[in-house]
Amino acid sequence: SKARIGVTGLAVMGRNLARNLARHGHPVAVHNRTAARTKALVEEFGDEGTFIPAETPEQFVASLERPRRLVIMVKAGAPTDAVIEEFAPLLEPGDMIVDGGNAHFADTRRREAALRERGLHFVGTGISGGEEGALHGPSIMPGGSAESYEALGPLLEDIAAKVDGTPCCVHVGPDGAGHFVKMVHNGIEYADMQLIAESYDLLRHAAGLSPAEIAEVFRTWNTGRLESYLIEITAEVLAHTDAATGRPFVDVVLDQAEQKGTGRWTVQTALDLGVPVSGIAEAVFARSVSGHAGLRRAARNLPGPKNDVRYLSGFADDVEQALYASKVVAYAQGFHQIQAGSEEYGWNIDLGQMATIWRGGCIIRARFLDRIRAAYEADPRTPTLLTDDHFAEAVGAAQDAWRRVVTTAAQLGIPAPGFSSALAYYDSLRAERLPAALTQGQRDFFGAHTYRRVDRDGSFHTLWGGDRSEVEA
Ligand code: NDP
Repeated sequence: SKARIGVTGLAVMGRNLARNLARHGHPVAVHNRTAARTKALVEEFGDEGTFIPAETPEQFVASLERPRRLVIMVKAGAPTDAVIEEFAPLLEPGDMIVDGGNAHFADTRRREAALRERGLHFVGTGISGGEEGALHGPSIMPGGSAESYEALGPLLEDIAAKVDGTPCCVHVGPDGAGHFVKMVHNGIEYADMQLIAESYDLLRHAAGLSPAEIAEVFRTWNTGRLESYLIEITAEVLAHTDAATGRPFVDVVLDQAEQKGTGRWTVQTALDLGVPVSGIAEAVFARSVSGHAGLRRAARNLPGPKNDVRYLSGFADDVEQALYASKVVAYAQGFHQIQAGSEEYGWNIDLGQMATIWRGGCIIRARFLDRIRAAYEADPRTPTLLTDDHFAEAVGAAQDAWRRVVTTAAQLGIPAPGFSSALAYYDSLRAERLPAALTQGQRDFFGAHTYRRVDRDGSFHTLWGGDRSEVEA
């Protein structure tokens, strides 16, 4: 008998995805460039379900029922193109190639268009949840044609995480939509992680708590509105002691954060779309700053404030509020970016559905996402989550604490770019008048770039070098 679906690329992600499919009763064909991996998978986990191993691409393709569903889980970039070129000639019209790697959505758009010309469906699919998610239920964000989702959706929904019985998988939209949404998911993940890191840093250096004490604070937070996977693992990491030295684990890790690039893509794309995702950008830049060892060494002795570490009563509660409010801002910015991408590329993405499929399986899974879903259910066209009734009230109630935290950070010289930029974004949106009016005046002065007026339609220019009268441009 034939396999219902096949996976090629059996490193951590592919192999766990194949096992997940097999465990759900779907006969799965498995293939890897280096055959040893295929053999090892079947030897170690063959009893979990029906695996049909293939040594060659021809064997692999021949073992799939039609229309063929072929999942590629290889290194993103050139290897993905190489594997597509290897398999596409062996496929027939109506067959589907699913790319579950972390592809850039622009690559996915290009690949989808090229394969569509050849009668094949290309399904660029975001998969989040890492190794464990792939095995036990990831959050799955498939793009591509509606027709391909009909043939593929039920299988993907079957292996996805479930929350309240709802699968964390939905057809996101055409061509690059799935990978775009996965990219923004990762950007939000960067922002969320940065805000948590700042919370830790402030509790440590402003309030003088130890990592073990801070772990307890995070555990408490995890029973409230901040309940999420990232808060949960933060407590675990902070409570961990290094076996070799007996010191807190967080004190023996080199403080230079790395990145694989999806956060950077999110910011690059946001710049192209003109969407202010300052929280995500600050998170990407914070990692970048941490990695500039030489720069940091050179600046180590720059003067800072003369304040001492001291215990501030109620500070932990203030930080919880600052974290919550800043997190709402980060999500509001990320969803704004999805909305803008959807408009730019005609994807018609349902924002509430994105919150729904991120509730489980993925790294940013959180109780909080139910609220986002509710916000888009109440008003699918809401311009920003910040004006949703629930969030407006919650952030409004948190703002005094949020401002105290940002002030304290500034006074003590503790960097809090995530908290402070989120607050600046909030205040910018609130402001009745922004100093952008002055910026326009300057632009008109040095470059005759013109400006619009509050009281009349049209574009105007002031003759700055002459009698300073105004002319219509
Ligand atoms: P890697 O990204 O490390 O890729 C290794 C796999 O790619 C191996 O199966 C390797 O085959 C294959 N490969 C590399 N180059 C080629 C080539 N030119 N031709 C054929 N096969 C090739 O694997 P991961 O499992 O970590 O990730 C797979 C994909 O999933 C990536 O795109 C990644 O970004 C994405 N992803 C990863 C997550 C994670 O937590 N790791 C989370 C979400 C997505 P061989 O064994 O022969 O070397």
